[in-house]
Amino acid sequence: MKDAMTRRDFIKSGLLAAAAGAITGPKAIAHEAEKQAARERMSKDILNYNPKMQYRPMGRTGVNVSALGFGMLRLPMKDGHVDFDQTTPMVHRAIEGGVNYIDTGRVYIGGESEQAVGKALAGGWRNRVYVTSKMPSYRHAPGHIGCTGCYQCIPCPHNVAIGYIFAYVYNNYLLHRNMDRAMTDYTVSMSPVQRGDPASSCVSCGECLAKCPQHLDIPSLLAKVQETMGK
Ligand code: SF4
Ligand code: SF4
Repeated sequence: MKDAMTRRDFIKSGLLAAAAGAITGPKAIAHEAEKQAARERMSKDILNYNPKMQYRPMGRTGVNVSALGFGMLRLPMKDGHVDFDQTTPMVHRAIEGGVNYIDTGRVYIGGESEQAVGKALAGGWRNRVYVTSKMPSYRHAPGHIGCTGCYQCIPCPHNVAIGYIFAYVYNNYLLHRNMDRAMTDYTVSMSPVQRGDPASSCVSCGECLAKCPQHLDIPSLLAKVQETMGK
């Protein structure tokens, strides 16, 4: 068997490579032109288009939103309030990277999330993004607790699942009036140590009070839950 390539083989392989180039070259150019045309189409159709970002149709709204959105539920905090000076550049950086979707809610961070969106989008940035917010329907239920379920109050030294008790169980109960379901959630779904009546584990130490951006009187509200749902 010959190890080295003969002169004839060498010429043959060169000719084949040239032929292959002649076939793939125009195809590759056409493919690149198609990609470029698609990019130009998308830059017209998609708000704040950036070729490094991926976009997806948002349900049946007819708009394409960035695969990465900016969620405004958890933001840098300072002395119990949103640190707008830190938040605004973060939002701008995301938009510069192709993000075109911002999600906030009326109850997020005691209303400061919506304020943060407003401050960050001033000066023309608003035209580059879609913004969604949410109406807190449970607020229309009489007797609701103004807990947003942000969980900034935990951990509690006595393992009281505060936000879960208020937002998930109690406010849901007020909204839907389904006591059977609420009682199952309240008495069974908590951590095993608190099964039965989890709100009763509160010893009113007050450690959680300073952490709540809604300034809720958590021990009193836990007592209120106990009155309704305790055994
Ligand atoms: S007041 Fe109650 S819920 Fe708050 S930290 Fe103390 S024990 Fe936990
Ligand atoms: S009690 Fe306050 S800190 Fe705790 S989850 Fe509710 S709103 Fe958040």
